Amino acid sequence: MAAQLRLRSALALVTGAGSGIGRAISLRLAKEGALVAASDRNGAAAEETIRLLEGMGGETGTGPGCHAAFQADVAEAGAAQGLIEQIQAYFSRPPSVVVSCAGITRDEFLLRMPEDYWNEVIAINLKGTFLITQAAARALVSSGFGGSIINISSIVGKVNYAASKAGVDGMTRSVARELGRHGIRCNSILPGFIKTPMTEKVPQKVLDQITPLIPMGHMGAPEDVADVVAFLASDGSRYITGATLEVTGGLFM
Ligand code: NAD
Repeated sequence: MAAQLRLRSALALVTGAGSGIGRAISLRLAKEGALVAASDRNGAAAEETIRLLEGMGGETGTGPGCHAAFQADVAEAGAAQGLIEQIQAYFSRPPSVVVSCAGITRDEFLLRMPEDYWNEVIAINLKGTFLITQAAARALVSSGFGGSIINISSIVGKVNYAASKAGVDGMTRSVARELGRHGIRCNSILPGFIKTPMTEKVPQKVLDQITPLIPMGHMGAPEDVADVVAFLASDGSRYITGATLEVTGGLFM
C-alpha cells in the first residue's frame, strides 16, 4: 500500500533538528510529504539532517521547493524572529507546522544546583519555545493560515529541567486558548526515556533503575515520538488542541 502523504502541502519548521528526536521528526514529516525547514544551533548538524532527507519529497538542490537547513540559537534575543523571517523569505510562506524540539539538560539536585544551570535550561527549553511559538504564531495570524504548533516537553526531569518543561505545558494550553479562533492548534508531547545523544549522558546505573519501571520494558526510539508529531501535524488531529500526549511506554502512569 502506498505511504500516506498527510502533509503534502505543509511547510514544517523543526528546531533542534540536528540530532535525536528532532532529526527523526524531520525525517518523518518529510516522508509524509512536508517540506522541512530544519533548524539547530549547530548549523552543520541541521545540514546533515537535510542530506538525510534527500529523495523524500521536496525537489533536489536549493530553492523554495526544497528542504532547507537553518542555523539559529532559540534562546538568543531576536533569533526566533530572524529565523521565521528567513524561512518566509526562502519559502515565500510561514511554516504551518512548528515543532519546538531544541532542548538541553543540566541535571543537578536542588541542593547543589548552580544558578547558571537554572538560567541556561530555562532560557533554551522554556524561553526558546516561547520565542519560536510567538514568532511563528504572529506570521501565521498575519498571513491568515491555520497551523499546528507542537512543543516537545517531558514526563521526567530534575529541578530546572522539570520546571522548564512544566512551563512549556502551561504555555501550550494558554497558547491553544488564544489561537484556536485563528485555526492554529497547539499541543505538547511528553516523551519518557528515549534513546538519543541526550540520554547517552545518563549513567547506566540510573538507566538500569528506570527501565524496570517502564511497563513496556524498554526505552523508546526517536521515531516513537516522531510518529505522534506527524499525527499532531496532520488533519487527523484537527480537533485536538491544548493537549499533552505522553509517549512513555507507560512510565509514571
Ligand atoms: P539531543 O541532545 O539529541 O538533541 C537536541 C538538539 O537541540 C541538538 O541538536 C542541539 O544542538 C539542539 N539545541 C540545543 N540547544 C539549542 C538552542 N539553544 N537552539 C537551537 N538548538 C539547540 O536531544 P533529544 O533527546 O533529541 O531531545 C530533543 C527534545 O526532546 C528536547 O527538548 C528534550 O528535552 C526532549 N526530551 C528528550 C527525552 C529523551 O529521553 N531523549 C525525553 C523527554 C524529552
